[in-house]
Parts: sequence; structure tokens; C-alpha cells
Amino acid sequence: MQITMVKKRLASGEPCEKCAQTEELLRRRGLWEKIDEVVWAIEGEDDSPGFVIARRHGIDVAPFFVIRDAGGEETVLTSPLRLIRQYFPAAPRTASKPSDEAEPRAENKAESKAEDAVAMAARFERADPIEILRWALGRYGDKCAIAFSGAEDVVLIDMATRIGLPFHVLTLDTGRLHAETYAFLDEVRRRYGVEIEILLPDDEALCDFVGRKGMNSFYQDGHRECCAIRKVAPLRRALRAYQAWTTGQRRDQSPATRAALPVIENDAVHASASGKLLKLNPLAAWSYEQVWAYIRKHAVPYNPLHDADYPSIGCQPCTRAIGPNEHERDGRWWWEHGGTKECGLHVAGDGI
Ligand code: SF4
Repeated sequence: MQITMVKKRLASGEPCEKCAQTEELLRRRGLWEKIDEVVWAIEGEDDSPGFVIARRHGIDVAPFFVIRDAGGEETVLTSPLRLIRQYFPAAPRTASKPSDEAEPRAENKAESKAEDAVAMAARFERADPIEILRWALGRYGDKCAIAFSGAEDVVLIDMATRIGLPFHVLTLDTGRLHAETYAFLDEVRRRYGVEIEILLPDDEALCDFVGRKGMNSFYQDGHRECCAIRKVAPLRRALRAYQAWTTGQRRDQSPATRAALPVIENDAVHASASGKLLKLNPLAAWSYEQVWAYIRKHAVPYNPLHDADYPSIGCQPCTRAIGPNEHERDGRWWWEHGGTKECGLHVAGDGI
């Protein structure tokens, strides 16, 4: 087997940031020596060897890997984590983490650790979000899902990429998202080289629902039933395969429902197939401004709707831009008053 890594060199002479991060990840995992050849795609030089290889394979991101087997057959991967999973599953995990927390995930330990959520929440209350995430990924590995929908979640994906441990990303496709959101999902996929598990509503339940009530019944009788079918049930099904999951929830998003949000909790709504499920809210103590400072500092991709005064983005028919004096959740289900402005993903209720 021969592995070629194609990296991008910027006009400044530096490797692109993601290429540098990927090399660092491979070094940390003791895999850099496994790369037989590095080929550069040089910015502004379309005929440089890396661009030639990229065109041959129809790839438009860097870095990527071409793995040639003994028979000369080539496999192309854009995700370093997938390369590790597929070809070096026994590679040691990063040993960069302090402490007893860096031990590899052990499924039989995970359950008992879930019992310690209250203690963990106290311990990590003042921790940097990346340390909370590092602990979770060290403990649960790819049995820890990063639930992706908003800007905060991409901050967590960015942090997870920097940590360098395996992780898994999932997202809900309700079928009612903005076109910008679908494009954004692909942008995140490309930027971080991650696979994103797409969670879809159950066909039968959805057909029955829209057959009986039409496409936009939520404007008449509230969003709970539609959200229960398009969001709550698919997430509940998917989370059974995990032992922990992360959300991008913050306390300042909703004084009514999120003011006391712990950084780590036992999920009161969902369960793992093996029992309890740990829910992590690493950004709980962060403000809106801190999230956006991180996004700007690290050039994290974000949904372009944010630039059109959509601070919180859900489904297209249920989200609108907000005015200058409105709270960030005021653009969600704006026709409903006195409710919690929650879809049921995080709180128990009659829609679940
Ligand atoms: S946000 Fe609106 S369209 Fe999306 S699932 Fe909920 S009610 Fe349905």
C-alpha cells in the first residue's frame, strides 16, 4: 500500500491551515511516517502536481489522500479521520491530555461514568469548552455524537478537529430547511473532511401527518406535532447508538428554558440503547459574542443567513429575521406566544 497526501501551498509559501492541522493530527497519532509521499497543489499554479492529481480524481478540497493498493487500485479519501479508521484502526489515540481522563473509551465504563454527570458538571463548570470536548471524546470516542445544526455546533466541530480524536457528526434534515442551510452542510463537510450522518423523518409517519394536515399546519395548531415527527423522533432513534452527545446550547439563548443549563448532564429526554445517555453542552457558559469571536478568529464557516439577521436558524417556514431589539430566539415560531420556543429536542413535552 502506498499513501500519497496532497497538500495545498498558499501563495505566501505556507501550507493551508487545514493541511497543517491534518499533518499535526497524523504526527500526534504516530502516523506521519505512514505517508509515503506528499504532493503539493500550489495556489495560482493549476499545473502543479497536486492540482493535476486533484483534477484526475475530481477533488476540490485539500488535503486529501490517494491510497494505492498492491494491485494498483486507488482509493481517495478527503477525511484524515476516515483514513485512520479505515487503514490504521489500532493507531494510538492522542496522549496529549492531562490526566486520568485521557484513557481510551471503554463501553462498560461509560455507563457508570454517566452516573457521575452532576459531579462532572461541577468539575467542568469553569473549564474551557475545548477541554470539556476533549474529555468527552477521550472517554467516548466516536460513540460521542456532535449534533450539528447551528453556528455553535460548527465551533464544536472545529474544536474536535483540533483535538484530533475520532468523533461523529449528525444532523437533522427535516425536509424544510433553507437552501442556504443545505449548502452550508456541504461546506462544513468539505472544510473539515467529516462525514455527516443525516437523520430523516420516518416516511410513514410523515406521509400520514402531511396527508391529514397539509404542509403548514403548524401555523394553525402549533409546531409541536410537526417537530415531533421531523426532529424529535429521528434524533431519539439515532441517539440510541451513542453514549454521549454534544449540543451547542447556551444559557443566554433562553432565559425561560436554558438559564440553568449544566455543561454536562444525564439526558432526561433521550436514552442510549445501553441505558443512560450523557449530554454535553460545552458552550453553556459562553455568550453569543464569545461564539462569534471564536468563529471570526478561526474563520469557522457559518450559515450566510446569519448575515441577514437570522441569529437562530431552524426550518425555513418557522424562522424569520429579527429586528434590532428582539431576542435571538424571537425569530423562531414567531406566531406562537407564551411558549418555550423549543422544538422538543432538549425538553420533555407533549410533542415527544
Ligand atoms: S421547525 Fe417548523 S417545519 Fe421544522 S419541524 Fe418544527 S414545525 Fe416542522
